[in-house]
Amino acid sequence: MEVQVLGAYGGESPECRLTCLLINGSTALDAGSLSQALPIERQAGVRTIVLSHSHMDHTSALPFFIENVFGKTEGAIDLYASAATIYAIRKHLFNNDTWPDFTRLPNHLVPAIRFHEFADEVPFVVEGVSYTPIRVNHVVPTHGFLIQQEGAALLWSSDTGATERLWEIANATANLRAVALETSFDNAYQDLADMSLHLTPQGLASELKKLQRRVPVLVHHLKPAFIEKIRQEIAELGNPDVEFLQQGKTYHF
Ligand SMILES: [Zn+2]
Ligand SMILES: [Zn+2]
Repeated sequence: MEVQVLGAYGGESPECRLTCLLINGSTALDAGSLSQALPIERQAGVRTIVLSHSHMDHTSALPFFIENVFGKTEGAIDLYASAATIYAIRKHLFNNDTWPDFTRLPNHLVPAIRFHEFADEVPFVVEGVSYTPIRVNHVVPTHGFLIQQEGAALLWSSDTGATERLWEIANATANLRAVALETSFDNAYQDLADMSLHLTPQGLASELKKLQRRVPVLVHHLKPAFIEKIRQEIAELGNPDVEFLQQGKTYHF
């Protein structure tokens, strides 16, 4: 399985792109930077988008991506999300006020995007890759995913505070190759992290105590204003398994 990191951050700056992973060149996991990070010809090769939740740092490129590929692809773009995320995207994004309703354009029979609702822990398969949505602990309904192909599994947290089920699944997955876990703020902002249900380096350390397997831990979703402090505090943890998910890098699992 090939995972290209188009955006690795929980905020935007000239160096930092919003959360978006490209799986095997054709499926986007979240769409924070899909239209900025990929040339338009390659955007036209993206047939499926899987969304973890409705927040803008995970969805903001959707309107521009749809516009870029409109008329260039056969059939609709398939968008997999929870019922809550689909509701939010319809109500707040493709609502004909914020952006045209591409679920009914060019017409409702042949729309540009088609929603598919997923349910907690019911795997769905896209082009040979299996995605198991796992509820995590964030301010809106949010799912991490166990992503599996040909005997290799990657567990990706999306946005979360302290959580349990994700780790039960990590510990039960024999073929787990890596965990990608968020850290959004440095330790001085623990109150903000608790309120917004995100992790700090000390929160990351207590989450990792629940992981009973030794696999690489790829830290992602740093907020740009806190990067230096987060890097320093994570280095101080001295955990040799922890590294940072690198924007622009292609991983093979
Ligand atoms: Zn986020
Ligand atoms: Zn979020």
